[in-house]
Amino acid sequence: MSREYIVKSKKIVTISEDKTIVNGAMVISEGKIIDIGKSDDIISKYKELEVEDFGYLVITPSFIDCHTHLLEYAPSTVYPVTRETYKIAQKSLVLQALMSGVTTFGEQICGSPMTLESVKDFKEIAKDLPVNIIFSCNSITIGFKDLVNFTSVTGNNSVDKDKLIEDETIMDLVENSDYPGENIFINATPANLTEDIVPRAGEVIYTQEELDKIVSIFHDKGKRVGCHVAGKDAIEMAIKAKFDVIHHGHGITDDEIKEISNSNIAIVATPLGGTHLKPNSPEDILKLIENNILVAIATDAYLPPYEGVSWLSFNDKKPKGSPELMEISKKAIEALIDKGYDENEALSLITLNAAKILGVEDKIGSLEIGKDADFIISNGVPVVEFSDSLNIKRVYIKGKCLISRM
Ligand SMILES: [Zn+2]
Repeated sequence: MSREYIVKSKKIVTISEDKTIVNGAMVISEGKIIDIGKSDDIISKYKELEVEDFGYLVITPSFIDCHTHLLEYAPSTVYPVTRETYKIAQKSLVLQALMSGVTTFGEQICGSPMTLESVKDFKEIAKDLPVNIIFSCNSITIGFKDLVNFTSVTGNNSVDKDKLIEDETIMDLVENSDYPGENIFINATPANLTEDIVPRAGEVIYTQEELDKIVSIFHDKGKRVGCHVAGKDAIEMAIKAKFDVIHHGHGITDDEIKEISNSNIAIVATPLGGTHLKPNSPEDILKLIENNILVAIATDAYLPPYEGVSWLSFNDKKPKGSPELMEISKKAIEALIDKGYDENEALSLITLNAAKILGVEDKIGSLEIGKDADFIISNGVPVVEFSDSLNIKRVYIKGKCLISRM
């Protein structure tokens, strides 16, 4: 029998229609939230249950980083590991993210020559980790002098461009992909390398007809599809092809924002970097939201911070990832608060909106009856009042405490 208990505190930021509950409490049973409200009401209704009183601390949903590369690429970006030690590095990265309140990941599998794992192997690895990992299966083109293509479904060797658009490849992506991540790289990526090594980063890889066809195959099978895209012309192609999720969207124009305003196209902003262009500024992100576009902020972990932009204040060039999700989204969330959005709306960029991108908004992303008890307990409202992870005192997944600093 799993434990049934109540958590209460001075403030619960629910990210639901209940907004912020002052002096709130939440009833947790079998890993789910079965009731939430004012603590006086909850405690008198469930007299027999044990109450954990967190006093002046703040309860919020835990964070969702809906665009990461933690298992496939990041281990060797962050650590000098070999195939022998790769799995330790994967676990270490997940633990560090967890310590910073991130409990769900939208993980990209692109087909890397550095690991021997297949999509199925990665899904097995994920089963042993105490976090939620939802996979996107992708094809990728790296902008070397001679373009190099990989896909997550054709093994670890590079393939010809023709292979990227073959029906069989696309069908395999459709089948193995569980959410619309960066399934299709419309532009060649710099892949964290410098311009002299990847002079063709940014080059458009597909024709409009090819993109139209790929999207229709996903949609015919009832699946949403996402793309890695940056720059006016390439973004225009993505909109025309009816991709469901635009990842990055660096360099999007005002006309394009108007075009997708009120549409079903969502944007995963990556203020840290990730394409050949300058990443999403807080002003850009605000503009997307003001135009009623569903926006989430993700880290694209791990990336070295894009240099010379005002919204990133890292003191070193070391690659950053999910542990820095709060820091990376800070300036955009502050911009929202300054514009009069409340803390629930502002924090939805790294909680509920990210859950919607992942297609799991009925399970996680806000603190509501029936959802998983994935939450954090912090000394203040995360991002709005602090971005140093040490202020996160506890991290829970499905009602279980996985991290405790108290
Ligand atoms: Zn990425």
